[in-house]
Amino acid sequence: MECAGKGRGSRCIGWPTRRCGRCGAVAYCSVSHQLLHWKDHREECKRLEQQMKRIDVLNDFPFTFTQEATLEILEKKETRCSFLSKRGIHGVGMWMCECRCGPPPLTSFDFSRLMDDVWDLSSDLCPSHGPLSSISKHLKSWKDYYEWRCIPLHSPVALLLHWPLTVYHATQIASVRSLTVESCNKLCIHYLGPEKELLQLSAFGELCALFNGMQVHIELIGPAIPQDRDGEKIDLRGCARCLDADCICRSSSSSENVNKIAVTGKSSALTLQLHRGFYHDRFQDLKEDSFPQLVIAPNAGIAAYPSWIPTLVCL
Ligand SMILES: [Zn+2]
Ligand SMILES: [Zn+2]
Ligand SMILES: [Zn+2]
Ligand SMILES: [Zn+2]
Repeated sequence: MECAGKGRGSRCIGWPTRRCGRCGAVAYCSVSHQLLHWKDHREECKRLEQQMKRIDVLNDFPFTFTQEATLEILEKKETRCSFLSKRGIHGVGMWMCECRCGPPPLTSFDFSRLMDDVWDLSSDLCPSHGPLSSISKHLKSWKDYYEWRCIPLHSPVALLLHWPLTVYHATQIASVRSLTVESCNKLCIHYLGPEKELLQLSAFGELCALFNGMQVHIELIGPAIPQDRDGEKIDLRGCARCLDADCICRSSSSSENVNKIAVTGKSSALTLQLHRGFYHDRFQDLKEDSFPQLVIAPNAGIAAYPSWIPTLVCL
């Protein structure tokens, strides 16, 4: 987290260790920056205070930890590297950031390779085509998800799917209060502070299956986005593909149908756009074109705080 009063009058004097005593959602390096920021913060403070009260609901976040899929790692029977190696995905594609061997620094990284949209797994182990049925209940755990997608529990895809499933889960929590997601077919999300998921964006393609029949747009905003990708738009047409050369996800004629659910025949669309910088600096421009129905910050100190901003977009 950065000092919310950064750039006001004087330079920050250190790490922002003072949290706003009322909302707890913003932090400052000093009393003086806190005072200087109050004029701007006063209004949002009330709203944030309400949201933070709901944090305990959110801390119980089923899609944050991938226990079922990675039990061996949790029980320390296996290291991440060997877990990934056994499955042939160590240091490969989207899996590159899943162990300490790590990816090259984001700034020098060749992102085009990652737009290949592949899981690097065989078809039985990954969700490479549209689901066979629509979601019949709210998915509450990895087990629910794996069952719905007909993937065996030992598949490692949970490691990468926790980003899209966190988005899914946040909308489920948020729509408890407001059922607008169900009643409109457009969803605009502001996703704050993406880090390693920038190298795993293909996994977000799963949102086409999770939000069947909807147009989902996600603005990813954060300082980790390289300068030369600022503003870049990415169309994800469906799930990432599997490794099997003869699988239907590979045939070009069916590629447009990949995200269609056999049962309903509805298709979805997913667009992502990248923005370098901090949210409070970029929000003014962004809200013009894409006012968010949901704001989510999966990498923030707090597990996540979706805020269901009352919006006219859907009404
Ligand atoms: Zn400061
Ligand atoms: Zn506050
Ligand atoms: Zn490794
Ligand atoms: Zn496939």
